[in-house]
Amino acid sequence: PFSGPSMQYLPVCLQLQGTPVVLVGGGTVGTRKARLLLRAGANLTVVSPQISPELEGSLAQHGGIWQQSEYAETDLHGKKLVIAATPSREVNQRVHDDAIALSLPVNVVDDPELCTFIFPAIIDRDPIIIAVSSSGQSPVLARLLRRKIEALVPAAYGRLARFAGRMRTLVKEHIPEEGPRRLFWEQTMESTVAEQVMSGREQAAEQQLRERLRDADSLYRGEVYLIGAGPGDPDLMTFKAARLLQRADVVLYDRLVAPKIVEMARKDAERVYVGKRRAEHALPQVEINQLLLDLALQGKRVARLKGGDPFVFGRGGEEIELLARHKVSFQVVPGITAGSGAACYAGIPLTHRDHAQSVRFVAGYLKNDSVDQNWSSFQSTTETLVFYMGLLGLPMICEQLQAHGRSPETPIALVERATLMEQRVLRGTLATMTEIVRREKPTAPTLIIVGDVVRLHEDLAWFGEA
Ligand code: SAH
Repeated sequence: PFSGPSMQYLPVCLQLQGTPVVLVGGGTVGTRKARLLLRAGANLTVVSPQISPELEGSLAQHGGIWQQSEYAETDLHGKKLVIAATPSREVNQRVHDDAIALSLPVNVVDDPELCTFIFPAIIDRDPIIIAVSSSGQSPVLARLLRRKIEALVPAAYGRLARFAGRMRTLVKEHIPEEGPRRLFWEQTMESTVAEQVMSGREQAAEQQLRERLRDADSLYRGEVYLIGAGPGDPDLMTFKAARLLQRADVVLYDRLVAPKIVEMARKDAERVYVGKRRAEHALPQVEINQLLLDLALQGKRVARLKGGDPFVFGRGGEEIELLARHKVSFQVVPGITAGSGAACYAGIPLTHRDHAQSVRFVAGYLKNDSVDQNWSSFQSTTETLVFYMGLLGLPMICEQLQAHGRSPETPIALVERATLMEQRVLRGTLATMTEIVRREKPTAPTLIIVGDVVRLHEDLAWFGEA
């Protein structure tokens, strides 16, 4: 049986460079449309007794014309596209009727009945343009959807598309058959080549692309993403971290990575726990390094999730050394380090005009019953100290700081399970903190912040406190 058209509008992309277009009306709505038309290179005439200052400026800048008058039918002569955005329904109707009589495509803003074409909501990653339209049924819904897509499509996709455009001929020369060439591009667009382009390293990307073209085997080599997963709250992952995690075939994670974050990996991705609890390493570091390499050489895309930032007490450097030696491509994605997460969620600014002009991240772990630091270098009262891995060493830290001249009154905070629902902040002084911790028995992970900024906690915290 005959079935009617199932699409109310056909989305097409108009080439408007130098094309005469007329816009009737120059208020806010008109200005918005003019902005788009000018960006698309239209030769724009605005017909309106008054126009907004912004529109006047853009017209001057792009060589458009403001015809300061009421609308008349002759304004449409010689034009290829008509848009009406006046506050008067009656004028809009006339523009519409005149355009139809002249067989010109016409859009009356916010009046689908009077449109032969409509403007979709767009996501602009020029040269990539994504258009979202509800066929005039619900512009709000279209805009909501656009916002979602905005968040999904990396801002640098335009750059990536231009890069691919430049490399097209080269790739075509190397891989003449279409099928294999498409496969090559598919893999390349999801590889470190693409990531390099998006972070602005196009030369390195081109070099790597040429290598891939020369060495067919490299296509089947995997790669490793060393991803900073932030301090715990999954919302603190970066877009890039989430994107690469989604791409991984295998995910390696340890205790510091919240289960919610591991869940963000693809359903079919293999998950490997590589542990690391103090004194109970599930896998020694060298074995983790080797595992990363082995998986990549098997052609897998491996995400190595690290708590916080991979390059802050994360041994990230060691994990990629071996990969670099074996020419496995990898990339390191920064994450929000626990110090930063704990500070913000506990309302303790790490620096402050009046209280601290520098901040130092310090390893606070116990080794042979002592915390190995050059204690005399911690005397500045205008420097905030952030101790990682310092729970067991806390009594020693408090003692050594005092022994080397810090006042017993110096404020100190211990943030337990920072940024998670269970976050707890314990506060005291160098003199009292050891006792407080003995009484409250916080559990790892915890972070210690020392300095006058801790006093600000009372005013700035929005989380509960013990
Ligand atoms: N690369 C990580 C640090 C790893 S070292 C980062 O940049 O954050 C491990 C230490 O980090 C823990 O001993 C603890 O001091 C700190 N840490 C990590 N996550 C934490 C959290 N959610 N709350 C408090 N401290 C945390």
